[in-house]
Formats: sequence, structure tokens, C-alpha cells
Amino acid sequence: MSCDLKDDLRRFLHWGPITLLGLTLVVTWTVIDMNAMWWTPGESPGSVINYSLIWLHTLGTLYHFVKALLVGPGFIPLRWHPERIKDAEHLQFCLRCDGYKAPRSHHCRRCDRCVIKMDHHCPWINGCVGWSNQASFIYFLLFFLSASLHGGAIIICAVVRGLGKRWLIKQGLHHMATVHLTPSNLMACVLSLGVTTGTGLASIKLLYMQLKVILRNQTEIESWIVKKAAFRRNAYPGKRIRPFVFPYNLGWKANCREVFLASGDGISWPVLPGCDQYTITREQLEQKKDKRARTRSYRCIRPATGNWVPIISQGLWTSLNIPCTDDPRIVLQPDDLVQVTRIQDYWLYGERVRSEEQNEKGSRRKGAIRGWFPSCCVLEIPNEESEAEEDNDETEQMEQKSKKTFKEIASQNKRMLDLATFILKRNS
Ligand SMILES: [Zn+2]
Ligand SMILES: [Zn+2]
Repeated sequence: MSCDLKDDLRRFLHWGPITLLGLTLVVTWTVIDMNAMWWTPGESPGSVINYSLIWLHTLGTLYHFVKALLVGPGFIPLRWHPERIKDAEHLQFCLRCDGYKAPRSHHCRRCDRCVIKMDHHCPWINGCVGWSNQASFIYFLLFFLSASLHGGAIIICAVVRGLGKRWLIKQGLHHMATVHLTPSNLMACVLSLGVTTGTGLASIKLLYMQLKVILRNQTEIESWIVKKAAFRRNAYPGKRIRPFVFPYNLGWKANCREVFLASGDGISWPVLPGCDQYTITREQLEQKKDKRARTRSYRCIRPATGNWVPIISQGLWTSLNIPCTDDPRIVLQPDDLVQVTRIQDYWLYGERVRSEEQNEKGSRRKGAIRGWFPSCCVLEIPNEESEAEEDNDETEQMEQKSKKTFKEIASQNKRMLDLATFILKRNS
């Protein structure tokens, strides 16, 4: 079995796709079983259309689900950098992917890659929704919603007829008293009805959110950036920051074309007049700078295990006050530096600063770099300002270093290109 095929199959082995496929199987089986008694396929043209619709919905849902999962969102290549060296100054650098983040791309910590036009990470498809699979994801939601409505309606009609069977016989309507309810199929109906109602409502909400995303050409992450941009301008009116214009909203027709045709290369995007390719990334860099100014530095004094309930290492109170989120928990070792952005009584949320040594070796310590850890494992660094500056310098140095490496690679590539051109010219 090829490696790619193995990877593709492994992506199905997750609670999201397994639950979704399992529930689809149970509901489809129930709908077909009940439909056979309620409106036997083949007895009239209407019954044939009804029966075909069940299969159309089921196969359409499965096809677009599998496509959204297998095609994936599209990733920025590892160690990616812009063509023009100068453009790198407008971009953020991703340490995990060891490359620059192209405009509209974001690093997904679950996929552990920079995702092109990332919208959100969806557990049901066990991956991100982004540039390549957003259209499939929307088709999947549409089929899923119509399958839920159609399946739910068939089950309700069949159960009503089953429960009124005696009454129908008494009225002499024998041709309608065809549904025979047993404890097992009644239970399957109740379960399936619960599932179709729940999933139907969930898909209406998701579809509504996705339609907003498409019509404005603004992913959920970008909506957050736009909100923060407005907040920055309102919070510091004295600073007179230039107004921020979201550059990708080109009108609903052009926006729909962009999503459903997935045109372009996923790196450069059509923008509004007055904006350029880096309008949004420059704003992101400014927001990052603000965030860094608010960040507090801590040094690790005792190891944090990364456990969700560290009752043995950190005691009962820390374990009873765990943060109610599914954000990762990070592992810390003494002397690690952490930049903390969220504070609770017993837990802190922050990002571990990679040491120079780790950067030089390019080594990756196992587990997440950003997440929660018990507050008793760290001490705040008192000389906040100087240390914060030091850390900022370090980050900047790291960026400078990667820019330097990038320049070196670029000049090396240019030399190779010159040599190849020279050889080609000589041979022709
Ligand atoms: Zn990345
Ligand atoms: Zn993801």
C-alpha cells in the first residue's frame, strides 16, 4: 500500500469521521427500512422519485464529505518564502513550518501546517476547511441538510402511520396501514429522528456561517482580525492609526467565483483598489506587536508535565481548577522562558520561547509550543520591561537570521540560475 493511501486512510481513523459515517449509516438504514413500508418504491412514479432522492442525498453527502476530507484545505509549502526578498518584511514567520506565512494563511496547530486561506479546523472532516476544500465542504453541508430534512420527514410520516395503524384499519383504509412498528425499529426511528434534528440544526448554523464567509470573502479568522483592527483604532484614538480596509471583499459575485472555482495559486489574491497583497499581513504584524507589549514573561522553576489533570505532580487544587477549554497543555522544563497572555488562578496560558540552541539545531521538542500550564511551575520575571525587550529582540533576531538565510538561499539560487542560463546559451 502506498504511503499516500495509508495517510489518507489514517485520516478517517478519528472520532469525527467515524461518528459521522456511523450515524449516516444508521439513519440511512432506518430511512430505507421505514420508507419501504410507508411508500414502497415502484408503486407509483412519486415513490420512485422519493426513493431516488434518498440515495441522491446519501451519496451526495458521502461524496462531498470524502472529497472535503481527502482534498484537504491546501498547505503552504514548508520553508516557503516570497519571490521578492523585500516582501518578507511584511510577513510573519512560522517556526513550525520554518517558512513565511503567505497572506491569508494561518498555522493550524492540529494539522501542524500553515493552511492556505484557513477558515477553521473541522473535527468532522478531521482537518481544516480552507482554499481547496471550502466548496466541497459547503456542498457537503447542503446535501447533509437536505438529507436530514428528507430523512426526518419520511421517519415522522412512517411512525405516524405505524402508530395509527389500528385506526386506519377501522376506517377501512387497509392500503394505508402498511407500517408495522416493532420495539427495535421504533427505537431506531427515535434515535434517527434525534440525530437528523440535531445535525439538521447544526448544519443550518454552519451553512449560515459559511454563506457569510463566502459573500464577504472573509474567513472566520479574518473576521477576528478585522474586529481587532477596529478595536485597536478605537482603543488608541490619539495614535491616529491609518484606517484598515479589508482588501478581499470584491462583491458577492466575484467572491462566490473565488470560492467555488478555487482559482489562483493560493498565495496572491485579487484585492480592492488602494490595497495591496500585504494590507492584511501588515495589520497582523501591528496587532502582534501590540500583543507582545501586553505579554508578561515567566521563567520555569519546576517541570510542567503537560498532563490535563496533573494531580500527582501539581496537587489537588491545580487539578480541580483546570481551564475549561480544549486548548493544549504544554510541557515545560526548568529555565524555559514563557510569554504569558492569559492568566487564571492556578493556570497560565502562554507560548514557550525556543532557545537559540534549539533554533540552531532546528530541533522540535515534542508537543505544543503554546498552551496552558500550572502557574506554580513558573515565576514572573520581575524586570519585565528589559526581559520583554530581550525576548522581542530574540524573536526579531530569529527573524533577521531567517531573513539572512533566505537572502543567502536567494543569492545561491541566482548564481545557479546564471550558471544554467550560461550553459544553455553555450549549447544553443
Ligand atoms: Zn506553519
Ligand atoms: Zn487544521
